[in-house]
Amino acid sequence: VRFSFADQHGILRSKTIARAGVDAALRTGVTAPSSLLLKDTSGQSVFSVFSADTGVGVGGFSGAGDIVLVPDPRTFRVLPWAERTAWILCDLRFPDGSPVPFCSRSLLRGRLEALAEGGLGMTVGAELEFHVFRMSDGDLQVEHVATPGRPGGAIDAAPTTRGAQLLHEESLDGMQPLVDALYRGITLLDLPLRSIELEFGASQFELTMEAGDAGDIADAVMLCRMAVRSIARRLGYHATFMSRPQGAEGSSTGWHLHQSLYDLTTGVGVFVPEDGPPLSPMGRSYLAGLLAHAAGAAPLTTPTVNGYKRYQPFSLAPDRIAWGIDNKGAMIRAVGGVGDPTTRLENRSGEPAANPYLYIASQLISGMDGIARGLTPPAPTTDPYRVDAPALPESLGAAVDAFVADDAFRTALGDAVVDWYATIKRAEFSRYLRHVSDWEQREYFSIH
Ligand code: GLU
Ligand code: MG
Ligand code: MG
Repeated sequence: VRFSFADQHGILRSKTIARAGVDAALRTGVTAPSSLLLKDTSGQSVFSVFSADTGVGVGGFSGAGDIVLVPDPRTFRVLPWAERTAWILCDLRFPDGSPVPFCSRSLLRGRLEALAEGGLGMTVGAELEFHVFRMSDGDLQVEHVATPGRPGGAIDAAPTTRGAQLLHEESLDGMQPLVDALYRGITLLDLPLRSIELEFGASQFELTMEAGDAGDIADAVMLCRMAVRSIARRLGYHATFMSRPQGAEGSSTGWHLHQSLYDLTTGVGVFVPEDGPPLSPMGRSYLAGLLAHAAGAAPLTTPTVNGYKRYQPFSLAPDRIAWGIDNKGAMIRAVGGVGDPTTRLENRSGEPAANPYLYIASQLISGMDGIARGLTPPAPTTDPYRVDAPALPESLGAAVDAFVADDAFRTALGDAVVDWYATIKRAEFSRYLRHVSDWEQREYFSIH
């Protein structure tokens, strides 16, 4: 049984326990190195392991010792594509049983419990886009798949080919072995898969999930993303959830997060308006909270350097902090209205590489602050790429600056968590800033 947990980057980390040890592991948990929680995406420890002070104000958390993976039995699943293997998702504790503050799954659960104390539950729906490339002999070949007229063609997509494959039946049919395997694996895992379709870009797919409980969908996204990669690899493909895998060409991939709150006693959605506007007063305040905290939430919705290159005008990804009624150019798209029980907000700012627990928690924290302060949103826009509205952060560095300055996150997550996460992301960003790119070489090598 693979005892698995999401690290701060939303990377699934697992330890396999042989059958004979599973009973004991279910009772006492499984140990893992706590240094995993101090690393950036390159695997480098950002804090000094073995020193008593991590600099994040959490007494005694040095990264030198173990943490314990405590399994959540509700998440046990037999893996359809690996023999006699199962998955179980875990929360993180210290060996003395106290909670680890940097466990993202527990962080989201904590926010959802606070919400439930106020009589509310959160429903989310996830749309994850991803790109698929062909591998040969285990090596990644940068080749398009599922592009009409250029089966397996090299990566030279002229802009005119963009959009040609959107929902293109014959291209989808060409990918049937992969698509079939994905459907089969994901549904056998009992994850709430709704659809798999071809997106705009060459090699680009989209997977959507049925709306459900926010905590369960966060788990489902973790497993589903891993399932896509594992199943694709077995068929000779590499699936990637990074935002812009094809550089300047190609389409961006986003993670659109549909969200709404409902009354736990009646089950009725509290964003559904009684008359007139697209949202109830509570829905409007929640929306205003999402807008007010969009920049601060960005390191949680868009945690990679690459994700900020997606914020471009006229691309179906947002470039500024605005909302619209059923407008896919706006960062927040309000969907539904009077009499529609599915009335919800779709946040289009996130990237599919995000840690799902942190992305969803960022939304809840932002929206609930809007409700607590009775914020009002500006008027909806019908011109999302020209409206006078603040820009989304232009880089991961700018996003982290906004995050650390935003009191809503400090209040909800605590200083230790905010400073820990900011330190890790800053380390990642500063490595990026020191990197000299092909663009710089091309731009300056011959002219100066
Ligand atoms: N690929 C676009 C993005 O980066 C979204 C396209 C769509 O509307 O599905 O968000
Ligand atoms: Mg899409
Ligand atoms: Mg969408």
